[in-house]
Amino acid sequence: MVLEAPRTPLVAAELPRPQPSPGQLLVRVLACGVCRTDLHVVDGELPHPKLPLVVGHQIVGIDEASGRRVGIPWLGWTDGTCRYCTSGRENLCDAARFTGYDLDGGYAEYAVADKRFCFPIPAGYPDAQAAPLLCAGLIGYRSLRMAGDAERLGLYGFGASAHIVAQVARHQGRRVFAFTRAGDEAGQEFARSLGAEWAGAVGDPAPDELDAAIVFAPAGELVPAALRATAKGGVVVCAGIHMSDIPSIPYELLWGERVVRSVANLTRRDGEEFLALAPQVPVRTEVETYPLEQANDALDRLRASRVRGAAVLVVAQA
Ligand SMILES: [Zn+2]
Ligand SMILES: [Zn+2]
Repeated sequence: MVLEAPRTPLVAAELPRPQPSPGQLLVRVLACGVCRTDLHVVDGELPHPKLPLVVGHQIVGIDEASGRRVGIPWLGWTDGTCRYCTSGRENLCDAARFTGYDLDGGYAEYAVADKRFCFPIPAGYPDAQAAPLLCAGLIGYRSLRMAGDAERLGLYGFGASAHIVAQVARHQGRRVFAFTRAGDEAGQEFARSLGAEWAGAVGDPAPDELDAAIVFAPAGELVPAALRATAKGGVVVCAGIHMSDIPSIPYELLWGERVVRSVANLTRRDGEEFLALAPQVPVRTEVETYPLEQANDALDRLRASRVRGAAVLVVAQA
């Protein structure tokens, strides 16, 4: 399924099978998660994608050479030499290439990927349930790490990432408060079913102050709302790659050593840590599956915030 130009639907196409270069794996795709970042690329909110492009960066597939199941994440390549790479921050590499953005991704039957950036998939996860671990899970986990040791955690937007983070946070003994759109009773019930002790609309008074908030929804007005709900010394982590403008705020919202920060991409260390942790929690992902040729329908449902858990394209059976 090919993006020919931003703001147009993906088009089904027959492409030649990609040829792996030295150091790359040829992967037969089994499932590929649908991420909000895919939507930002398709909708033209992220500049200069490779075109034409196969989007998708939560790929579970079979390495054709070894027969092993592997995962291909968003971080597809780094130079390994810049000041970010050499200081444990390859997620910030200036020359990084990203799967499904700079490199063809997983809305396809085959993909190639630099083997140094692929992960083994934990046994016990079916392909479709494993796919959302690769971005919703990984970047959610990095965001949770940036929340420090916060005991009272607010999650703004309860989509694919939050539904995983809530489970990890509960496992770590944190208290979880979920904020959704007003009237999203189903989303609030879903959050409570995953261990949130309270779920309500943004702006509703939560029963307690927050020590940290993670903003998953791409709406800038959530940042002041989250700051307002956060105690002194707390942090508001913006987990998305794109967000509408943040409204101006009175300084008193930031005063008291509150911090606002973003989380960008992932490091391979995040992936190794999270994929080791997920089966211990155990994280159970809830997925809506679609055949590959219905990728546009999956994106439409995500755009309308109608997906419960994560949307996943199921491309083939192992
Ligand atoms: Zn670098
Ligand atoms: Zn993603």
